[in-house]
Amino acid sequence: MNLDQITQPFSEIFPGDLSGNPRQRQTPKVLFSTTQIMGFENADLIIFNKKLAEEIGLGKIEKEADTDFLNAASLPANIKTYATAYAGHQFGNWAGQLGDGRAIFAGEIQNKNGKKTELQWKGAGATPYSRHADGRAVLRSSVREYLMSEAMYHLGIPTTRALSLSFTGEQVMRDMMYDGNADYEKGAVMMRTAESFLRFGHFELISSQREIATLQQLTDFTIQNYFPEINVESPEKYALLFQNISERTADLMVEWYRVGFVHGVMNTDNMSVLGLTIDYGPFSFLDEYALNFTPNTTDLPGRRYAFGNQGKIAQWNLWQLANALFPLINDEKILEKILNDFTEMFWTKHDAMMAKKFGFDRVLESDVSFFTDAQQIMEDLKIDYTLFFNKLENADENSDYERLFAEVFYEHVSEENFLKFENFIKIYLERLDKNTISRAESLALMQKNNPKFILRNYILFECINEVNEGKKDLLNKILTALENPYKELYPEFSKKRPSMYNGQSGCSTLSCSS
Ligand code: AMP
Ligand code: MG
Repeated sequence: MNLDQITQPFSEIFPGDLSGNPRQRQTPKVLFSTTQIMGFENADLIIFNKKLAEEIGLGKIEKEADTDFLNAASLPANIKTYATAYAGHQFGNWAGQLGDGRAIFAGEIQNKNGKKTELQWKGAGATPYSRHADGRAVLRSSVREYLMSEAMYHLGIPTTRALSLSFTGEQVMRDMMYDGNADYEKGAVMMRTAESFLRFGHFELISSQREIATLQQLTDFTIQNYFPEINVESPEKYALLFQNISERTADLMVEWYRVGFVHGVMNTDNMSVLGLTIDYGPFSFLDEYALNFTPNTTDLPGRRYAFGNQGKIAQWNLWQLANALFPLINDEKILEKILNDFTEMFWTKHDAMMAKKFGFDRVLESDVSFFTDAQQIMEDLKIDYTLFFNKLENADENSDYERLFAEVFYEHVSEENFLKFENFIKIYLERLDKNTISRAESLALMQKNNPKFILRNYILFECINEVNEGKKDLLNKILTALENPYKELYPEFSKKRPSMYNGQSGCSTLSCSS
């Protein structure tokens, strides 16, 4: 691997704390602190993402030093590791300084096309931002992040990516359910990549400290590196940046709705300014459709981050980013307009997305209420979101609906409800007739927009148990399935969640513990 080509532009450009002091503390006025990795001596590589390594310009594993790098065991001298400082609003409240508590940056690599990618370990030890935690990660949450970020990528959804996953050879103590029953779990470290890991929280941190020069420097850096569509000479460049971030965020939310993804912890520190899915914790795909479903047990009292709330929360988070950028823009009207326009922009994109899922060529006025009716029926009849659309591809006037949809309901459906369901399908088929595209084209649209494979939490749960015992068969099978999400490679993965997993922690709901 080309480890000698890894550079650290971020820590060269911005103000940082270069003391190397690992003590957890406030680090005002800086955007990073230099930080050592753990140096795990008995680490063992579990997965290495060859294709990604090639793509970003890192190349192949050739010598032991390459694996040592991935395992956070040791580093070549050119890599000066650091953790970044950010702030955030957690569950609606200002939380002040947070920062990379268990992520450490190696720096950046460029591929032959000049595309830059940042590299970081997650779980390589404590940083000044670990806030009384240990900076380690357990196998459970690392397998989840590795597989899910790759699954999202192959679904075509903007996301951070996974480069490698390793056992650290250490045990980590966790109280998984926060109920006083702490236990040891296998420790793991992963390497993840992104064009940039910049979050709303980086801007919130530096703005809250009134470090306007640094805020401006960071914002200019962001525009220059990641928003080539914005003219750096434009006097409106900061407002344009905010508008761009709003649009990318709306696009991301719509993509989450398309596949039924619930992030679970949409705090502003977990929002990427590039519109990437970032920080995979207690996430879940929907099994049964439910707008108020939240996989995060910590979120249960208010369901702030429930599936159906994600669009609104994204907008709330954008308000916080607007406040952070305000000193550079100094114009409430422009910011308020962008924020208010978010609602309509989001729904327009959302409805266009739903139309494709249903195989409609365009959004008719009547489609909007049709989509609401569809949501209601999926919710009332406890219908599996993914399987429903898969089965719908095969529905026509002559179908036996009872047989076709037999496997999509999570509960027994009364005769009355089934009549309602059949009636809904009939209305759907009538709407299809209004298409100006052929049935084959409509079907192709559905197949492109409705995944056949989603990485359900119960599948992850089974996989984690196997990897924990040193087995890799299921892991490899999942890796193949998630690379081809619009095909049905393994019929056993295209089933609703087995009832034995109902209510099982880790299979539907999860805690934040990781
Ligand atoms: P999250 O909820 O995962 O987005 O994390 C919120 C904050 O807690 C971030 O600043 C994380 O870096 C920090 N954090 C979470 N888990 C750990 C851990 N095991 N060790 C250190 N910091 C952590
Ligand atoms: Mg986070």
